[in-house]
Amino acid sequence: MALSNTQYDSLKKDYDSRRLRAFHVANTNKQELYKKDPNLQKIDQSIAALSVKHAEQLLNGDKNAVKTLIASLSSLNKEKEERIANLGFDEDYIEPSFSCPDCRDTGYINGERCHCFKQAALDIMYDQSNLRSVLTRENFKKFDYNLFSDDKSDAIDGMTPYMAMKQAVIKCRAFIDNFEDNHGNLFIFGPTGVGKTFLSNCVAKEMLDRGKSVVYFSAVKLFDVFRENSYNKDLDAQSAYQSIFNCDLLIIDDLGTEISNAYTISQLFMCINERLLRRRSTIISTNLSLTGLRDLYTERTFSRISKDYEFVKLFGADIRMKIS
Ligand SMILES: [Zn+2]
Repeated sequence: MALSNTQYDSLKKDYDSRRLRAFHVANTNKQELYKKDPNLQKIDQSIAALSVKHAEQLLNGDKNAVKTLIASLSSLNKEKEERIANLGFDEDYIEPSFSCPDCRDTGYINGERCHCFKQAALDIMYDQSNLRSVLTRENFKKFDYNLFSDDKSDAIDGMTPYMAMKQAVIKCRAFIDNFEDNHGNLFIFGPTGVGKTFLSNCVAKEMLDRGKSVVYFSAVKLFDVFRENSYNKDLDAQSAYQSIFNCDLLIIDDLGTEISNAYTISQLFMCINERLLRRRSTIISTNLSLTGLRDLYTERTFSRISKDYEFVKLFGADIRMKIS
């Protein structure tokens, strides 16, 4: 699970405080009932003392004594139950109420992460991705090939938009399946409205559901985060900046829509290069053609991308009209 140390620590802290709260509430409720019926407290004291004896006699192997003790314990518990019921309460009232009874809010079962902990970790990663709401609409399950023309008259180099999308999905699936070993990168390019962002969102959802951390930024926002980091040292700015380099998958959407200048050129190169060095995957989607990319972002960035990224070319009519 790709949580950062800080995220893991803060999640553990949440669990600890949730657990403490559950015990605290149970104890307060218990004190309340003790006040109403002081015999309850005596019964609890006797149960505690007998339980210790029970453990001792189990160790001694005294079977008869164990039997008698169990009988006494069970009659005490019965009396306790009745007294609580007489006060008009349920027995659970004085038990800690955990949000996950399976792990009693420890987050672990037999040293393994509990299902609730895994889900909480996924939630953190979804939140961090900036994609939570969009991924319910844009994922492989919602994918509709019928949106892409298979008409020969729309073909380029013998390939229709439909065929191009089929091939793109195959490349994306391979990217997902080989993610652990290959640390691949995708460069998805083509005109507006041919499904580039949709496709990268499909990949994002698959990766998040596999427990990978994904961070999505439009190119405009990405450069904002870089700029902010250079003069704003508060924790949020720092953490957004760090996530760009640390996440398992970074998605830079709509490269080319930002105002490009010497600063963006150097920052994009630094970002791409740093992620390659760290063997972390990146998906770039853009309306730029390959020549457009070279013209805008210089030969240096272009050659990094052409060497280490798989090109995914899409084309055809704007499908956004068909979706809405
Ligand atoms: Zn649990």
